[in-house]
Amino acid sequence: FLIDVGKGSVALHSENFSPVVLGDFTTRLPKAGETILGQKFFIGFGGKGANQCVQSARLGAKTSLICKVSADLLLDCTFVGQTADAVTGTASIIVNSEGQNVIVIVPGANLLLNSEDLKRASDIICKSKVVVCQLEITPAVSLEALKMARASGVKTLFNPAPALADLDPEFYTHSDIFCCNETEAEILTGIPVGNLEDAEKVGRMLLERGCKLVIVTLGAEGCMMISVEEPIPKHVPAEKVRAVDTTGAGDSFVGALAFYLAYYPELPMEEMVRKSNYIASVSVQASGTQSSYPYRKDLPQDLF
Ligand code: ATP
Repeated sequence: FLIDVGKGSVALHSENFSPVVLGDFTTRLPKAGETILGQKFFIGFGGKGANQCVQSARLGAKTSLICKVSADLLLDCTFVGQTADAVTGTASIIVNSEGQNVIVIVPGANLLLNSEDLKRASDIICKSKVVVCQLEITPAVSLEALKMARASGVKTLFNPAPALADLDPEFYTHSDIFCCNETEAEILTGIPVGNLEDAEKVGRMLLERGCKLVIVTLGAEGCMMISVEEPIPKHVPAEKVRAVDTTGAGDSFVGALAFYLAYYPELPMEEMVRKSNYIASVSVQASGTQSSYPYRKDLPQDLF
């Protein structure tokens, strides 16, 4: 979750995966049971929530993290719980020279984040401007946080990732903004999203399910947005850039959008989406996930 408190404290409540990236790394992906030689190895921080929080913080938001990790980590974060009962979540990613990857996620401590943890963090959740949730923690806990936020009039931004085909319908009705990528859109609706028209169909379907505003991110094509207030779908194109690594672009987008919702709530939504596209398009021009997220000082100042 990513939460903006009072004059702008953004807290993020989510998993805290440490993704292990093996990339370019290997010429091809190993088959089941096979051992092959790789060329490069890299360890980076991650987890969708952590990524989104970091992007928001790099734009200038005050952030804190609400999550759970293994007690073997030495951390001093008020809302980062520790448990002796599970390992810190990890994602192992192997990337071949075509950019294809295989990923193994071990959620570990993320799945032990519970209602009690939310209650302990209720002050920050309920006094925030924006709460961002994903599905890398137990869905019921994610939904509970959205409901807590809603009950206090806090804006909710939900990123249904990784997607679940049987998502609890209450997620739709408790999301002010429902932001998914093409794959997630397909899993949720059964409609394969290969172009803007497909995204528009998905958008309409998700509005019918109770969302107020739907954003479908479309990679290099930018985004499609549609809302109850403006039911004519809008395409917001992305910058034309040379992408070197798009891993984590979606989280950069969500983190940036949360930043704008919290700090520039008066901006038209289309403008927030356009600026978030820009920031995500910067992130795809560098390697890694959080390592590719731009800082405010390095961005054109008309974004702020
Ligand atoms: P990931 O799962 O890798 O984090 P995603 O699939 O969730 O990413 P995308 O839809 O691929 O998210 O991309 C999110 C946003 O990033 C896009 O809406 C766009 O703003 C930006 N983006 C992604 N790829 C490109 C690209 N090749 N050129 C410019 N912008 C891009």
